[in-house]
Amino acid sequence: MKCVRIHRHGGLESLLLEEIDPPRIAPDEVLINVKATSINHLDLWVRQGIPGVKFPLPIIPGVDAAGVVAEKGEAVRHVAVGDRIVVAQGISCGHCRHCLNGNDNLCREYKLIGEHCDGADAEYLAVPSRNVIRLSEKISFETAAASTLVFLTAWQMIVEKAVVKPGDDVLVVGGSSGVGTAGIQIAKLFGARVIATTSTDQKAARLKELGADETINYRRQSVLEEVRRLTAKRGVDVVFDHVGKAVWDENIRSLAKGGALVTCGATSGYQAVTDLRYVFYKQIRILGSTMGRKGDLLTILDCLERGTLKPVIDHVLPLSDVREAHRIVEAGEHVGKVVLIL
Ligand SMILES: [Zn+2]
Repeated sequence: MKCVRIHRHGGLESLLLEEIDPPRIAPDEVLINVKATSINHLDLWVRQGIPGVKFPLPIIPGVDAAGVVAEKGEAVRHVAVGDRIVVAQGISCGHCRHCLNGNDNLCREYKLIGEHCDGADAEYLAVPSRNVIRLSEKISFETAAASTLVFLTAWQMIVEKAVVKPGDDVLVVGGSSGVGTAGIQIAKLFGARVIATTSTDQKAARLKELGADETINYRRQSVLEEVRRLTAKRGVDVVFDHVGKAVWDENIRSLAKGGALVTCGATSGYQAVTDLRYVFYKQIRILGSTMGRKGDLLTILDCLERGTLKPVIDHVLPLSDVREAHRIVEAGEHVGKVVLIL
């Protein structure tokens, strides 16, 4: 099968197009003929490497997958060969306390395809049957592959962690990224007023089309001053962040009393400094979040089918253009998602 593999961490040249044998499946696994995948910031970490983190090399990257069932193990009942499916990318043990409570993403054995084992940048992908979800005819493979990671991540941040309510002011930092565009839509769905930060006026216009009520161009405006102006000095109820270090202090100071900062990443660096005076005086909550519960993916798929959520797809490229896809995401030239099709 055709696939993309990383043998050693580095720049775009580390992404190699190779021909290897397709994976074999166990009795409770499904072999998927991948039709679409998409690039996430995680793919850049997997390619570049993270100090202190060991990835199983060589690895096939790709965390989102939609496709067709090519083969199923004898114990698999809920899908048939030929079914259109989407993959829930988080694999957990299935029998620990967290798994049994439905919080599979808190499982100690939790791992992601494309990070801890081979992923979706390949013609075929093998996953446990409980990670395979039937896909409605109304949802394209591209839409599904552009949605799973970012909407699941943003859903947990907004719905489960920050518990956004109608009337809340939510600051979405880095609104034009995949997870940012998902965050804007979910915060709107739950009745918030959304203020989104981004780097250009062109991107800001697209975020407004997506539902952002206000935008801040962080290259030429002070985010803190704009937040104060837009909230009559009160601050926002929720800051939704995945940027980290570069914006951390601003995030903390942008919060209203009793507000919550929810973070799922640190693309600009992870060793941020927190002025604790703001934390206790304003009684703010700092909430960490990674991925989301598998069950919430079913709700997200319902929203995609009904059109209440819709991924922003900026580019659709063939798998062979994986280097260009990584380049676009790394340069931040996109709004939303870059999808690869097979
Ligand atoms: Zn578990």
